[in-house]
Amino acid sequence: MKVERTEVLIIGAGPAGSVAAAMLRQQGRSVLILEREQFPRFSIGESLLPQSMEYIQAAGLLQDVVEAGFQYKNGAAFVRGERQTEFDFRDKFSPGWGTTYQVQRANFDEVLARGAERMGAQLRFRHEVLAVEPGEQPRVTVRSPEGEEYVVEADFLLDASGFGRLLPRLLKLESPSNFPVRGAIFTHVRDHIGHDAGFDRNKILITTHPEHVDVWYWTIPFSNGTCSLGVVAEMDVLKRYEGSDLQRLQALVGEDPNLGRLLAQAEWGVMPVRQITGYSANVSSLWGPGYALLGNAGEFLDPVFSSGVTIAFRSAELAAQCLARKYAGETVDWEQDYAIPLRAGVQTFRRFVEAWYAGGFQKIIFHPDPQPDVRRMICSILAGYAWDTRNPYVADTTGRRLRVLEELCSA
Ligand code: FAD
Repeated sequence: MKVERTEVLIIGAGPAGSVAAAMLRQQGRSVLILEREQFPRFSIGESLLPQSMEYIQAAGLLQDVVEAGFQYKNGAAFVRGERQTEFDFRDKFSPGWGTTYQVQRANFDEVLARGAERMGAQLRFRHEVLAVEPGEQPRVTVRSPEGEEYVVEADFLLDASGFGRLLPRLLKLESPSNFPVRGAIFTHVRDHIGHDAGFDRNKILITTHPEHVDVWYWTIPFSNGTCSLGVVAEMDVLKRYEGSDLQRLQALVGEDPNLGRLLAQAEWGVMPVRQITGYSANVSSLWGPGYALLGNAGEFLDPVFSSGVTIAFRSAELAAQCLARKYAGETVDWEQDYAIPLRAGVQTFRRFVEAWYAGGFQKIIFHPDPQPDVRRMICSILAGYAWDTRNPYVADTTGRRLRVLEELCSA
């Protein structure tokens, strides 16, 4: 079998893989990205957080993203029945970007992958990694589009295979998520939402189901008059709805009067309706001999705060920093230098996701008389600044501060 060599091999050209590739190219490393699909391809995960712009910029990909013409985003709006509130991310506590984009991932992922290629990464579509041998010089077996198999040997392997979770599956690293099994049904619609509807296209809209606090909808406007529309609920709830996925989604949307009204003129059928279930996942370790797991190949929490791509980028940045030190001849402790810092931010998001589904976080955001300072700190988390330990809600890893706030807002 043919054997090739590269310094860093990246599996998957999603956000994690492409940003890691671009950062490694900036260090002068030889990088090969193997991607099993042909881009552009659909992916879910369309609302970015301002924190993610920092990583796009550090990777040298900012101009590519800005010039792609995506929908500008400056915040998040939340609605439950008569209650509504909105956060403008520019009012956040943490310094840094306060705006970002809502992106069709087919375009966005291609923009990032082509950007990494422009910076010198080798990018191969329709090359699927089939098997992996970790170790000092990890090797992978790949199938080309012509069906031929070949081997690539590398100094280091970054698994950015996302929901494919290649190394966790092959190396039995998977560990259960502590979230209940939820599912999402979603599509794109031509929304025809009128200017007078009070709908801000610069914000993601999160609507909580009028009766079930743990069932919620996303409405993510794009720059071309379409919206991504989806609903998230526990599987037991989703199973109660019969018919096609389109009928189930329409039935669920119809249960919320606000959303039903907003989307009354919407044209369906822009994209097939899809369902994804059991996406929350974890691993026993984020690294091993000769490899690290990036983005969703590691842990995926939950979509409610749109944190997935930001976490994927953060993992890419941390891994690229570790590899810079490795190539400088330093010893890298992947637990201390990669896994622990990455998980610190994931834990911040986890506390907020748990509080969301339990209902406490919703009491905080809908509180009629919030304290401005506290609201700015909460706004920072919603903007993705989950690693900024200057924010007391990040620094307090016990979650006590958040619980106290929930209690105060429940009184
Ligand atoms: P991916 O984007 O999944 O990319 C992995 C790539 O690896 C794919 O292109 C795949 O084809 C390739 N691959 C897989 N296996 C192989 C193989 N064997 N060989 C070669 N290539 C391979 N995140 C947000 O930031 N904002 C949101 O609004 C948001 N909404 C979401 C809604 C839902 C319902 C869900 C489930 C998730 C959402 N997410 C959101 C999360 C987001 O989808 C992911 O976190 C993000 O896509 C992870 O990026 P990644 O680069 O790790 O993986």
